[in-house]
Amino acid sequence: MKTGVLIVEDEELIREVIKDYFEDAGFEVTEAADGAEAIELAEEREFDLILLDIMLPKVDGFSVCRKIRKTKSVPIIMITARGEEDDKLMGYEFGADDYITKPFSPKVLLAKANALIKRVSGTICNDENVISLAGITVNQSSHTVRIDEEYVELTPKEYDLLLYLMNNKGKVMSRDTLLSKVWGYDYFGDLRTVDTHIKKLRAKMGDKAAHIKTIIKAGYKFEEAL
Ligand code: CA
Repeated sequence: MKTGVLIVEDEELIREVIKDYFEDAGFEVTEAADGAEAIELAEEREFDLILLDIMLPKVDGFSVCRKIRKTKSVPIIMITARGEEDDKLMGYEFGADDYITKPFSPKVLLAKANALIKRVSGTICNDENVISLAGITVNQSSHTVRIDEEYVELTPKEYDLLLYLMNNKGKVMSRDTLLSKVWGYDYFGDLRTVDTHIKKLRAKMGDKAAHIKTIIKAGYKFEEAL
């Protein structure tokens, strides 16, 4: 089955360029020219990736992102205009997984898309790809998280954050470290982004949320034994 990508962009020329590029790379492309159409499509179909412009008619990209995130964990790459640092930050807070700045090379966008999809789907298969602590099991092969045997839907960033903290259990991870390790070297974000994601992650973890400890003035720590 082809990898499905939803391109949300009102500028037809840009949309066409991305479309051609992704089709050539073997993707099945669906297009949306405004925010309302994007929400509708994302609700009725399953995509492997969504490319989401911020400045859109009807409903803006941030609102689209937030709306989709309420029900879907599909990877989302936001398309921002040059120099709009705040947009990137906002995008992450609304649940985007990566961003690209206009004007961009379709080649770079495709590389980002492939990296994100690969990370989410988990291509390597062996038992070492399962980490289980305190009733929380992260399976990196199937890219799933179970808490007391119940599957929990996490966004790619929430997943990465949980996995990173679990892999470094017992160690305090500063917000700076988490930003650079989980969000990547190219992201110079606000430290509150980490707090926002921790909050969302904990909300999905029920009783197990207590395993992610806030260490005042230092950061966060995964504690196996409470
Ligand atoms: Ca636009």
